[in-house]
Amino acid sequence: TVHPDGDEGIRQTDSDAALARLSAVQKSYISDPFVRYLLPRGAHLQPPRPPLINVGTYVRSEGIDQLVNGWLELSAKEGRQCQIVSLGAGSDTRFWRIAAGPRAGTLAKYIEVDFAENTTKKAMAIRKSKDLSALLGKAEDVKLESGGTSLHSPRYHLLAADLRLSPNESLAPIMTKSLPGSDPLLSSDLPTLLIFECVLVYMSPEASESLIQWFVDYFSTSSSGVLGGLVYEMFGLHDSFGKVMLNNLKARNVLLPGVEPYPDLASLPERFTRHGFTTSYAFTLRDLRRVCISKSELERISRLEMLDEIEELELVLQHYAITWGVRLNNPEAHDLWKG
Ligand code: SAM
Repeated sequence: TVHPDGDEGIRQTDSDAALARLSAVQKSYISDPFVRYLLPRGAHLQPPRPPLINVGTYVRSEGIDQLVNGWLELSAKEGRQCQIVSLGAGSDTRFWRIAAGPRAGTLAKYIEVDFAENTTKKAMAIRKSKDLSALLGKAEDVKLESGGTSLHSPRYHLLAADLRLSPNESLAPIMTKSLPGSDPLLSSDLPTLLIFECVLVYMSPEASESLIQWFVDYFSTSSSGVLGGLVYEMFGLHDSFGKVMLNNLKARNVLLPGVEPYPDLASLPERFTRHGFTTSYAFTLRDLRRVCISKSELERISRLEMLDEIEELELVLQHYAITWGVRLNNPEAHDLWKG
């Protein structure tokens, strides 16, 4: 089901996410030298986000970074390279941050998918920026395809699809497309992490389920199959604070009628367990801030801007969660990945 009022609002949520990231970079919460290339000119002149939003962006970004880095480290420990697929990637810069970082050698492939309008813009921005292009490899190995809606390079691939459609129509043709040398774009024998950062809320539960199940089926034939999943989303919007957040989403016309975020933290791991994932946990950003951010980092960010309302911050952060899952085809062979 496609949104009855069109998808412009949904596609626009990407600019919001990227502007929030830029604001957190400008205020020194996080470091990301790449995000500015993916925003329209003049974006840096926009007023920064309020401190509470900047802290939220920081915790989200740190939490996801820690999990993704852990994934890259586990692959390296097993002596394997890995693959990351980001669905609804928007203007995310994660590929470039990994490619410029110490774990670059562990990454065999990074595939991003979004609506064609967004991938076209991103492909053009990549072409225009020397810093983004340089990390893709030699210019002659970087190609725009499908009328400029997709971009291929040796490691990084940007693809257009509407993820609400049946995966056999939307994903299968682009993911199983052959690369030179006749390997399919999506390798079924690499440990693979699926990232759904702030995207599943814009589709029906049935569409999200078929999407995840499509990947499970794709990897199920591989004896070395290790499939990881990470979902970042809002949830539990039934209390009074949550209702304000829900109404805000509804006012922006981005929720499909009848589609509501998951009711509570305990229900979130079902995102993965219903598909036979061996391990699945969900953490709220509130807990991540308390447990996963070091004391010295908390002190550093507390000096960046005045934030009086810690209670309000916690109230917001407890409505966002990261859910993590791992599915092992052969648990005996992959002890390392169980935790
Ligand atoms: N993942 C990025 C991040 O967290 O910074 C972007 C998040 S943004 C809030 C949501 C993204 O998901 C947008 O780029 C939007 O176009 C994309 N998206 C939503 N529904 C989609 C669909 N049905 N098919 C493809 N992309 C979709």
